[in-house]
Parts: sequence; structure tokens; C-alpha cells
Amino acid sequence: MAWNTAVFRLQEIDTTLTAIKRLLSEIEDALKDDHTLREAQAQAKTTERAAAAARKAQKDLEFELQRVETERQQKESQLYGGSVHNARELQDLQAKVKSLRQHKAELEDALLEAMMAQEEATAIAEAAETVRREAEAELQKSQAALTSERDTLIARSQALSAEAVQVRQEIPPVILESYDYLQPRLGGISVAQLRDDDTCALCGIGVSAHPREAARAGEEAYCDGCDRLLVYFF
Ligand SMILES: [Zn+2]
Repeated sequence: MAWNTAVFRLQEIDTTLTAIKRLLSEIEDALKDDHTLREAQAQAKTTERAAAAARKAQKDLEFELQRVETERQQKESQLYGGSVHNARELQDLQAKVKSLRQHKAELEDALLEAMMAQEEATAIAEAAETVRREAEAELQKSQAALTSERDTLIARSQALSAEAVQVRQEIPPVILESYDYLQPRLGGISVAQLRDDDTCALCGIGVSAHPREAARAGEEAYCDGCDRLLVYFF
């Protein structure tokens, strides 16, 4: 391989490696990004807590209603059972039964509302749980795709790095030194092609006679405009 072909190929490899590195860093960030799932998990937890509280409120009312109903039945059988004869006691029992009936009616209303609230809270919690499961499946799917893409890029990057080692051996040390010196100083691009119309393919300037002739002769030459190493291909 002629050195100018080799240095041009090295530039291609290094440019690709830089792009791969950037992509890999983006993939790593994306792999860490699970905020959609976290939000769905938090929402599922909050709504399930609310549903559990609504279920408990309903149960408490059912229990209380049962207790009041049992007491009402006891008091009524006392009232009508004939065992109580004292007028004052009967009056008290009557008042108690009336109050228990009233309380029972209130509890029944409250229970109806609690049941409706419980059903609504349960439906909301179920919907949130569905969203959470979907977010989990979605994350698994996207992470699998990202991991596979990352593996492909790593393999490509390893192959290119190995090729770069080979290609470097075909470039004269003085050119290689210059290439490595220019890399960080010229935005990662040390090499520019001299076009047939004698302009630089990267900065577009018309290259002056001396570097132009040198580049065409396959010798070390630099662009007047952008200072890059000029290569010319017939
Ligand atoms: Zn240039």
C-alpha cells in the first residue's frame, strides 16, 4: 500500500472509531435511562396504596354495619320479647332501637359510597399496573436492541483498531508523527485530499504550486488553507 493510501485509510478508520465511540457513549446513557419505567412503577405503587386504603375503608364499614345490625336485633328482641316490663326501660330500649336503625341507615349510605370509591380506586390501580407492565416490557425490548447494537459496534471498533495497527506500519514515521500531531489540533482530521483541480477537498482553497507539486509527486505536503497533510490519488 502506498503511504498516501495508507494515511488516508488511517484517517477513515480514526474518524469511524471516533463516531463509534460517541455512539457507544450514547448507548450507555440510553441503557441507564429507565425513567419511564420508574415513573410507571411509582404510579402503580401510589394507586395500589389508594386502592388498598379504599378496600379497608369498605371493610371497616361492613364490619361496623354488621355490629350495629346485631345490636339492633338484640335490642329489638329484648323490646318485643316480653322480658322487660319496666316502662322506663322499655322507653329507653325503644329509643335505642330507633337510634340504631338511624345509624344503620347512615352506615348503609356510607358503605354504598365507599364501595363506589373502592371500585374506582381499584380500576385506577389496575390501569396503572397495566402501564407499569407495558413499560417494563418496552424497556426490556429496547435494552435488548441497544445491547445488540453495542456488541456490534464494539466488534467493529476492535476490527478497525486492529486494521489501524497494520495500516500504521505502511506509513513513514515522519508522516505518522505529523498525522498524530495534527489529529487533536485539527478536529480529528489530519488528512485532506488534493482534488484534480488543485483545490483542497476539505477547506476548498486553491493549493499553491509547491505543496501541490509535492502532493502530486507523492511527497509530504500541507494545505495552505487548513494545514492538513495533502494526499493525491491519480
Ligand atoms: Zn485545506
